[in-house]
Amino acid sequence: MSQHPVSILGVPVDHNSTFLTGPRLAPARVREAFNSESSNMWSELGVDLASSESWTDVGDVDVAGVDRATTSQRIRSTAIELIGEGTRVLSFGGDHSVSFPLIDAHAQNYDDLSVLHVDAHCDLYDDFEGNPLSHASPFARLMETGRVSRLVQIGIRTLNGHQREQADRFGVEVIEMKDWNDAMQIAFSGPVYMSIDLDGLDPAFAPGVSHHEPGGLTTRQVINLIHRFEGSLVGADVVELNLHRDVNGVTAMVAGRLAKELLGRLLTD
Ligand code: MN
Ligand code: MN
Repeated sequence: MSQHPVSILGVPVDHNSTFLTGPRLAPARVREAFNSESSNMWSELGVDLASSESWTDVGDVDVAGVDRATTSQRIRSTAIELIGEGTRVLSFGGDHSVSFPLIDAHAQNYDDLSVLHVDAHCDLYDDFEGNPLSHASPFARLMETGRVSRLVQIGIRTLNGHQREQADRFGVEVIEMKDWNDAMQIAFSGPVYMSIDLDGLDPAFAPGVSHHEPGGLTTRQVINLIHRFEGSLVGADVVELNLHRDVNGVTAMVAGRLAKELLGRLLTD
């Protein structure tokens, strides 16, 4: 089976967090979990990641000592460069602010891009604490570009009045956690970018996040979602791993597992 080339990219950024910092330290720890000899290198989709020559770890985005706006630009330009080289991009680490430039890079390169977003929060704040690049706002900034066809959000359980208005304004399809059932078929017609905020999972499964919101998805439900949605996965990220809050490295291992399943689908879709 021929495979699409994939670049794995670390994004060590957390200066757009609102409550705690920590996600800038995540790339190294996710890599460690991803490569851990405690498991093997197969995706459940039947892809042998160890013997695949189609993916390359290209290291971290270089953002040392630069300001917020420059950080965002560097993430965007790095992703555009990798996509331009013909690879699909799987990113991990960072607070959720990193997904705006990552997804925007994809939207500039793929017509009719849809976004599948797993999160406890819809991240649609028009303005949060005066920082337009806040991790509470990436999907507002993204929808303002007008370049994304559909945004479907899953796991949401923190909607307030403002964010409901924002979802309506942008036509976001919010599937609240209270309404989720495993038989729901999530279907897209074209290319899909998947963004996974680890706090979309229940803190029982992923305690290593800054914002604990009980009542979320299981690890199994998220893996099933990665495997089963209809469409062609062309890019993905796993964000908001906060090592300061993790318990025995369990959340890092969840991130590593999700990365393997995303990689399996990115290589073969
Ligand atoms: Mn988020
Ligand atoms: Mn969140």
